[in-house]
Amino acid sequence: MSDASTIIFDKVCLIGIGLIGSSLAHAMRDRRLARRISIYDIDPAARDVAKELKLGDEICDTVEAAVTDADLTVVCVPAGAVADLAPEIAKYLKAGSILSDVGSVKQAVVRDLGPHVPDMVHFIPGHPIAGTEYSGPRAGFAELFQGRWCILTPLPATDTKAIERLRHLWEGMGSQVELMEPGHHDQVLAITSHLPHLIAYTIVGTATGLEESTQSEVIKFSASGFRDFTRIAASDPIMWRDVFLNNRDAVLEMLGRFTEDLTALQRAIRWGEGEKLQEWFTRTRAVRRSIIDANQA
Ligand code: NAP
Repeated sequence: MSDASTIIFDKVCLIGIGLIGSSLAHAMRDRRLARRISIYDIDPAARDVAKELKLGDEICDTVEAAVTDADLTVVCVPAGAVADLAPEIAKYLKAGSILSDVGSVKQAVVRDLGPHVPDMVHFIPGHPIAGTEYSGPRAGFAELFQGRWCILTPLPATDTKAIERLRHLWEGMGSQVELMEPGHHDQVLAITSHLPHLIAYTIVGTATGLEESTQSEVIKFSASGFRDFTRIAASDPIMWRDVFLNNRDAVLEMLGRFTEDLTALQRAIRWGEGEKLQEWFTRTRAVRRSIIDANQA
């Protein structure tokens, strides 16, 4: 455990204590990055678990109690819940404090949260590129962000000192931080995260539509490739519904390109164009190598 000199924020408020919120709580607590952590979740059962696991110093029954006096408030709820929550949070934000989030789509949070942010509050949306297929307050762990990227998408006029402070928090939890424009973030994530999830949901869905005898063999021989898709397709249905509804344009753009490439490969298979297939697969193998070299495997 680090010493008290690592404290970056006096009071941090987490709204939503699922996988990401609880991982933030564990990481900040273990590394002593916040003096006090307050937590609010709409689900009383999640609040009970937060109490049981001692994820925070104050597990609050209202947004007001959690947000009041916080130096940093982090919204950790699914994208679809942000719009209703925004005016309620905004009422209690302290002047000079930072408001951030961890959502997987950034333009939508700027749209839904941005207009409610008071002038004296620094609004810095964020997205840790880290996660698992599990959800809820028991799913979190302190090392989730270790060695992973966190993208911050502040608007151009944002105070640089506030950005640096938030950067230090993420670095304190083991992440590397990159700044990005929200629209660019949504395009990059559409191809690196959203489309792969859509493909996994499709393949696993298609397999469940097969007749019963084939279905049992799909499970039995799943180690041949299918298994890796099932892990991704086990991700939280509400979170992913909201990702697709809130990053529609970028996902549809990437899906269009993907469909064209799929058709090209389909054609190569039909016409026995082995060279084309081999060339394609050789190129994709090199991508895997680059990911391993970048320690992101
Ligand atoms: P999660 O495990 O499902 O937790 C979300 C929590 O927020 C739940 O306890 C939920 O309660 C609660 N909540 C919903 N509406 C709320 C409201 N209005 N006020 C307070 N609490 C509310 O979700 P997660 O995986 O931590 O994801 C949270 C955010 O992180 C999402 O925006 C997601 O896009 C982003 N993210 C997720 C991952 C990942 O791998 N999971 C990675 C990076 C970023 P109910 O269950 O009752 O709705």
